[in-house]
Amino acid sequence: MGRKFLVAGEGGLNLTYNSTIEELITHYFPSEFMAPILRKFTNSNFISWLNTHEIPTFIGSSNRVFPKSELKPIEVLNKIVTFISSREIEVKLDTKWVGWTKEGHLCFEGIQAIESDLVVFAMGGSSWKVTGSDGHWKKIVEARGVRVQAFRAANCAFEVDWNKDFIATHEGKPLKNIALTYKGHCSSGELVISKFGLEGNAIYALSQKIQDTLLTEESVVIILDLKPTMTVDQLRAKYQNSGRSKVTDILKNDLNLDRSSIGLLKQFCSRETFSNPDLLVETIKSVPVSIKSAGGLDKAISTLGGIALDELDDNFQLKKIPNSYAIGEMLDWYAPTGGYLLQGCFSMGFVLANHLNSLELKEEQRYTSAGQ
Ligand SMILES: Cc1cc2nc3c(=O)[nH]c(=O)nc-3n(C[C@H](O)[C@H](O)[C@H](O)COP(=O)(O)OP(=O)(O)OC[C@H]3O[C@@H](n4cnc5c(N)ncnc54)[C@H](O)[C@@H]3O)c2cc1C
Repeated sequence: MGRKFLVAGEGGLNLTYNSTIEELITHYFPSEFMAPILRKFTNSNFISWLNTHEIPTFIGSSNRVFPKSELKPIEVLNKIVTFISSREIEVKLDTKWVGWTKEGHLCFEGIQAIESDLVVFAMGGSSWKVTGSDGHWKKIVEARGVRVQAFRAANCAFEVDWNKDFIATHEGKPLKNIALTYKGHCSSGELVISKFGLEGNAIYALSQKIQDTLLTEESVVIILDLKPTMTVDQLRAKYQNSGRSKVTDILKNDLNLDRSSIGLLKQFCSRETFSNPDLLVETIKSVPVSIKSAGGLDKAISTLGGIALDELDDNFQLKKIPNSYAIGEMLDWYAPTGGYLLQGCFSMGFVLANHLNSLELKEEQRYTSAGQ
């Protein structure tokens, strides 16, 4: 149970993000859909919920929220599973849902069909199939007329055509404290240079925008700022005040650029630019990097696509399949890494649970008044 949660834990289980709720909401797309959900179960609510379930948290230097270091991801998961089990919930593992019978009962592989009053689908997106989130449900719900947007990788690596010498030297190296811009959207953080191209939180944050363009265009040019904390004028002054003559030495010692950043400049600058200080400092602030494609769906941290949001009513109920609800990554929403994904899923879970509890209450009241 919760294998994706454990996979997420391998890179540090980033549960949510520490910011005001209004700031948090700006990271979700479409934010009009996510805003009311997040306001009903905020990052502070989530942290309190974790704390009351003996999962203490801490805020990391980048405002990301993690379980305290003494707690391993498996222990976090076990605490949640223990809580669920205490609520008289029966869990059936290795039981794949494969559709409905003619009577509308739920069909699973290996067990008898189940008649249900209410159904909550939370079968995830379509990355990391090994965790069970294989997107197999897409065709099944489409056959009931539900519109499901095609899955695409999000928060994923992007392909760059590296020059052979560059990648032989710099594969696996990080580019720290950089900023990226694409179509007016800016993100900062870290990148990692891989044989395939670039990965890391700075490019993950732009993944939806880049993917949208790649639907119609063969490549996308993103702008990399290797020194976001300095202006072109400040860089130029440092360059001019240097007593050194070799460009590489000035970049390394006066402008404090690391070897990979210098290598990158060499790949993306012409000789003329590299030897012209004015043009070079401008390029440090705006290296054009051409992206050819997105990495594979299966290794993406999350997926774009899923059930179209207009297929749901205000309570996550599928309009075409009454009494059936869908939440989490099954739905067509997007957020970058930074704890926003789990926060979004937990908020949806909370809001839907409240709604279903209120239905149950109404039902009880109906029986009571009928009995009277
Ligand atoms: C490598 C990696 C790192 C990540 N790191 C973070 C992070 O640090 N912070 C963060 O916020 N998010 C992170 N995420 C994203 C986050 O884990 C997901 O967004 C989140 O788990 C989605 O929750 P979900 O419940 O919608 O789906 P899932 O967690 O994918 O769960 C879906 C469940 O449904 C089951 N299922 C699927 N199909 C069927 C079927 N037909 N029948 C029965 N069961 C089925 C699956 O087996 C699975 O148990 C990461 C993801 C990955 C892959």
